[in-house]
Amino acid sequence: MSATQSRIEAPLQAQSPFELRVKLGAAVPESQVRTALASGDMGFLHSFTTGSTVDGPGVRVVAWTSGCQFRCLYCHNPDTWTLTNGIPVTVQKATEELRRYRHGLKLMSGGFTLSGGEPLMQDRFAVKLFAAARAMGIHTALDTNGYLGTRLADSELDLLDLVLLDIKSWNNERHHRLTGMEVGPVLEFARRLASLRKPIWLRFVLVPGITDDKNDVSEIAHFAASLGNVERVDVLPFHQMGRYKWTELKLNYQLTEVQPPPTEKVGEAIGLFRSQGLKCY
Ligand code: SF4
Repeated sequence: MSATQSRIEAPLQAQSPFELRVKLGAAVPESQVRTALASGDMGFLHSFTTGSTVDGPGVRVVAWTSGCQFRCLYCHNPDTWTLTNGIPVTVQKATEELRRYRHGLKLMSGGFTLSGGEPLMQDRFAVKLFAAARAMGIHTALDTNGYLGTRLADSELDLLDLVLLDIKSWNNERHHRLTGMEVGPVLEFARRLASLRKPIWLRFVLVPGITDDKNDVSEIAHFAASLGNVERVDVLPFHQMGRYKWTELKLNYQLTEVQPPPTEKVGEAIGLFRSQGLKCY
């Protein structure tokens, strides 16, 4: 199958990002992948979903990119780790898709969110999509782990109305054990967004025994409050919904025995953020 054929045949819409999707871009020659990454004229998307109310304000259309450099132990979409598991989509095609929703999104005070995977693995494509959304007057949000924030110039950050930023752990050793990467660049990106007064919605996944150390959570809360641009914090309880993907992909899932945190533990974490004067849910 040629790359062009796979573009036409692959279903861009999904019911949710929990659909397992693999090798949808495998037919694209490596040279074409490199050109796409450099130009941003083509990207790789797991899917488009519509109707989200949890990925930014109002009702959102979300494009889920493929490719991520983190390897979070709790990742619920490990099929998005590999760039070419995604569907190759030209920026024009992705823009057309978005255009279909532009009036509805405005009516519902919503917008467009680019999520993943990690969208900044395809930073040129991300910039072109955000520019297209902005030109249509659509609210724009980037959902990111923040590690590759330096790939965007200040002028490109101007295309964003909001950044949904994950801070996965304060403690660098625990962050590394959890994601495979250092936390420093994530915090640096948060500071830069603060200096640019770019609104952040912070996301924190509460995993019993891994991210629930009270001191770590307090440190994140203190840091978030010190930035001055964190509009809200969402504490997301760990769940097992993506576990089947690890099994299907024959990956070593280490959290089989971990249960979702009890309601009172989620409440405690929320309380730590609120005690710093942050809006937290
Ligand atoms: S950053 Fe997100 S997509 Fe990447 S491994 Fe972590 S949870 Fe998965």
